[in-house]
Amino acid sequence: MPVRMTQLAPFDLIVFGGTGDLAHRKLLPALYYRELDGQLHDDSRIIAVSRRDLSAENYRDWAHKSVAAQVSNLCNMSMERFLKRITYLSVNVEENTGWESLEETLKGRENIDRAFYLSVAPSLFGPICSAIGEHNLVTDETRVTIEKPIGRDGESAHAVNETVGSVFKEHQIFRIDHYLGKETVQNLMALRFANVMFEPLWNSAHIDHVQITVAETLGVEKRAGYYDTAGALRDMVQNHLLQLLCLVAMEPPESMAADSVRDEKLKVLKALVPMDEERVRRNTVRGQYRPGASAGGAVQGYLEEVGSPDSQTETFVAAKVEIANWRWAGVPFYMRTGKRLASRLSEIVIQFKDLPHSIFLEEAGTISANQLIIRLQPDEGVKMQLMIKDPGPGGMRLRKVPLDMTFAEAFKVRNVDAYERLIFDMIRGNQTLFMRRDEVEAAWKWIDPILEHWSNDKEAPKGYTSGTWGPSASIALIERDGRTWHED
Ligand code: NAP
Repeated sequence: MPVRMTQLAPFDLIVFGGTGDLAHRKLLPALYYRELDGQLHDDSRIIAVSRRDLSAENYRDWAHKSVAAQVSNLCNMSMERFLKRITYLSVNVEENTGWESLEETLKGRENIDRAFYLSVAPSLFGPICSAIGEHNLVTDETRVTIEKPIGRDGESAHAVNETVGSVFKEHQIFRIDHYLGKETVQNLMALRFANVMFEPLWNSAHIDHVQITVAETLGVEKRAGYYDTAGALRDMVQNHLLQLLCLVAMEPPESMAADSVRDEKLKVLKALVPMDEERVRRNTVRGQYRPGASAGGAVQGYLEEVGSPDSQTETFVAAKVEIANWRWAGVPFYMRTGKRLASRLSEIVIQFKDLPHSIFLEEAGTISANQLIIRLQPDEGVKMQLMIKDPGPGGMRLRKVPLDMTFAEAFKVRNVDAYERLIFDMIRGNQTLFMRRDEVEAAWKWIDPILEHWSNDKEAPKGYTSGTWGPSASIALIERDGRTWHED
């Protein structure tokens, strides 16, 4: 079935960090795809901004190469149209130079949707917003997107929010968590709220526990400098994993309106059982990868990779999270995330309870409890594990069978990158898939005590061999409760 595309009203998108890695790998290819689908009005412009002294033509060459590196089968006509709408300006935020050229470029276009995308180090969010304010570049139809990380603890996140909030109103601020733009994450909402069959089962009476895994096979690569000051808890758990948890656990929102959804997510964050010292000790595991094998080749350990032999930064986190409300009391949410793990896999597993009573003879075989598996990567899709009768004669023998819907196979459509959806939601002014200030601060409020107890703790993160599923303590964390991590 053809996908319906509506053209957007003209806009000016100003990308700070236009020469950076995110622009190269994600933003430019995402924008090109929207061009290909005819969604960009002739009068829409992309204005790339960064420090270096480049001509617009040099930048367009670079942008062309960026898109070609990510997109196979380029369409020459679309590419030509795409490049024509791109321009480049040199602004040095730290030295506060070059703003006049941006002012000049935007002049006379005050009635057109204006979107600033801050794809730069978080330390520049404040200075950029202040300068945007001072140069009177904020119109009623202006929005700003800020990338993660928003702060490195509750206090710094509050400071970032204050600075950005002093120039932009909350309805103009788009805090991006690209996990929320993934097809399967959207489908989680469709699954829960567009079908009647799940809601009656979606609670502690029928669900035994939930697992959320976000596993990478890569090490820190080029992000070593940033990563060593952040670690997996700040980089992944505070935002992506907690957001996924919220979408699984939230009450049905009144509508898909941004604040309805965000109000419900906020309630979940507020209902998380606080991590006191005892809970941090019992219910969290932090690890750090050691040398091993990944994708068939030998790889260095974290300490060698970052060149910092004393680093205590965690590259793996597992945690048991409890939610104190009627729906989820007594249902643990187990989360784990890490680098250099056995495979690249992101999934949510809803583990239903065992049957209250089996009517089948022992010869029928073991009856496994149902599982709903929502896969975010590598192959986005949804799988339901059911028990059925083994076909053919031979009596009643039961077998576990997946009802499997891999989206790429089911719909034969290109897998749309989260950034394509999110950039355009931002330009349209739809905040449903973006985090509100109070959500970000509530997430930090839960994370801060973990950071604090870990930093007081003299114990180093537990080592794990690259290419495995993390430290054995992570397996012990879940097995202690008589459960196991899901394996296909
Ligand atoms: P990056 O590759 O280091 O790029 C930084 C950009 O900022 C460059 O375009 C740089 O260009 C520009 N810049 C640096 N100092 C500047 C200054 N004083 N004035 C103006 N421009 C300046 O970073 P990135 O990986 O693209 O990440 C950008 C943001 O996205 C960060 O907040 C990061 O945490 C977030 N993020 C990135 C990824 C990813 O996969 N890369 C994923 C999630 C979130 P010049 O050197 O030419 O000035």
